[in-house]
Parts: sequence; C-alpha cells; structure tokens
Amino acid sequence: MTKEKLPHIHILAMGGTIAGSAAHADETVGYRAGAIGIDELLKAVPQITDIAEVTGETVAAIDSKDLTEELMIKLAHRAEECLSDDSIDGLVITHGTDTLEESAFFLSLTIASPKPVVFTGAMRPATALSADGPLNLLNAVRTAASPDARGYGILVVLNDTIHSAADVTKCDTSRVDTFRSPNRGELGRITGSQLRFFAPPSSAPGRGTFSIPSEALPETAILYGHENESRFLVDALIEKNVSGIIYAGKGMGSISEAVLPALREAQEHGIIVVRASRTGAGAVIPTAIYPLPFIASGTLVPQKARLLLQLLSAKKMNPNEIQHVFNAY
Ligand code: ASP
Repeated sequence: MTKEKLPHIHILAMGGTIAGSAAHADETVGYRAGAIGIDELLKAVPQITDIAEVTGETVAAIDSKDLTEELMIKLAHRAEECLSDDSIDGLVITHGTDTLEESAFFLSLTIASPKPVVFTGAMRPATALSADGPLNLLNAVRTAASPDARGYGILVVLNDTIHSAADVTKCDTSRVDTFRSPNRGELGRITGSQLRFFAPPSSAPGRGTFSIPSEALPETAILYGHENESRFLVDALIEKNVSGIIYAGKGMGSISEAVLPALREAQEHGIIVVRASRTGAGAVIPTAIYPLPFIASGTLVPQKARLLLQLLSAKKMNPNEIQHVFNAY
C-alpha cells in the first residue's frame, strides 16, 4: 500500500521561550530565550512526522521583547515568499510570546494567502519540567496542516486553543493559559488529535490588504493614561513631531482634562490621535465628547492599534477613512 502524501508545513523560527534553555529543569523564569535551534525543537516531537512533512529555517533567534519593525517586516517578506511556493501547504511561526500578538496582527494585515499561517510559542523553556513548547508545536503543525484552517488568515495556537490574530492578547505574565481572546472568544480548540473550529473566519476589511512596507513606518507612540496626569509627555511627542499617538485611556478611552488640550494641540500639528483602552477588553467607540479627528480603536489593544495606524498613516489616509477601518475591529 502506498503511503498518502502528507501536507508540507514549513516552520519559520523567531526564537522566544519555546527555544529557551535554562540550567535546570525546575527553572521556568531565568533562562535564555531563542537558544535552541529548530532541529532540537522538532526532536522533542517525533510524532510530528505522522502529521506533516516538516521543514524549517531560522529567521531570528531573539527574545521577542527585542522585536524590531525591521525584523517584523523581514518575517512578513519571508512568510509571503514561502506561501507563494506551491510545494508548501502551510506555515508555522515559532515566536516569543511577549510580542507574538504584534507580529501575528502585522502579518494578518499584510498577508493575503488563504494557506494556513499559525503562530505558536511557549511559556516554559524547552528544558523545563512540563515544557509546553512541544505540544504547542505539534498542535500548531496539526492546525497548519488541516484543510479546515484554510481561509482563516493568521492564527495563534497555544494551550490547545486556536485564536485569531486580531483578538488574541497575552493576559498573564507566567501561566500557560496566557493567550485569550477577550472580545470574540477563541476560534477553536484542539482536543487530542481533533481540531474543531467554533467560529467562521473574521471579515475585517484590513485583512491582507496592506503591502509589506518597503520603508520605515511613520513614528507612532503609545501613552498610558493614569490618575494625576500631566501633559509633558504629549508636549515631548509634539516636539518630536511624531506621526501618531495611541492614547491608552481609562475605561472607554477617556482622556483627562489635564491631557485633552495637549492632544488637541497635537492634532493641530497634524498628529493622528487614537483613543484606545488600558482595560484590556471591550470596544472604544467614537463619542460626541471625542469627535473626529479623534479616532476610536474599536476592540484593538493599544499595541495593535499602533500597528494599524502606522500602516494607515503610511497610506496617507484622512481621519475619516482611518476611523472607517478601525470601526471593523
Ligand atoms: N521573553 C520571551 C519572549 O517573548 C517570553 C516567551 O517567549 O514566552 O521571547
């Protein structure tokens, strides 16, 4: 009997804890991220060869706290090249969890291929007792190899759970169930070898519609709201002539009276100001108190609102057009 041809899944490794190495098996915090190569990672999950024909390459070997725009763009280019290769059926991207949601969201905006692209990572280093990386990697490959995952855009798979790149966010500093989708919920689950999607793919209009930038994106900063605010950080950003400010406001993107005049002044200087929320869940919507040119972030957390605003500002869109795109999130 001839063996059925398995899907070809290619892995792009970016480093992170999934490739982390510590001196002792009980060490889950003090370790070096990105220390282990892709071959070592695959050795921990020999079962993977029953699911797919797997190849891999290293794009970066970093702790994802050090992720740069340049690297994110390099990753997007490499992903696009791989996806246009007819011999590759799907991609898995192993990534540090600290900024995984940013890279996944950036790729969701810049990659249009219907082939599955699945980000995964780990909260415990590869050398730890109960390391979560091997099963996460196996589940990520299982998802990328599944025809059911086609058309879902960029997915994030950790802890037996499938999330969309737009909604997922890291919610806990150390637990393995750190990735959650607080607004729309998880897209699906993996139970044993079975993959189940509960929800259809999102139809957000920004998805895959931006080309991968060929030059540096407009400088955009995030400010975090707190009690007893003063305007000096906004003044510094006006002075620096940034292109955009994401204001992670209190509650539904509320702005204190101490900072509001400064943000209005920033707008007079042509700086686009987006109201987001520091709460971590729920939507920020346009209100009569903060009319255009204030932009409301929808359900995007500040770090994702920043990426979307950068891509929209690079297209020289006006506040009305920018708000229209954010409304879809
Ligand atoms: N600091 C690590 C990283 O983001 C954390 C992790 O991967 O879980 O690379």
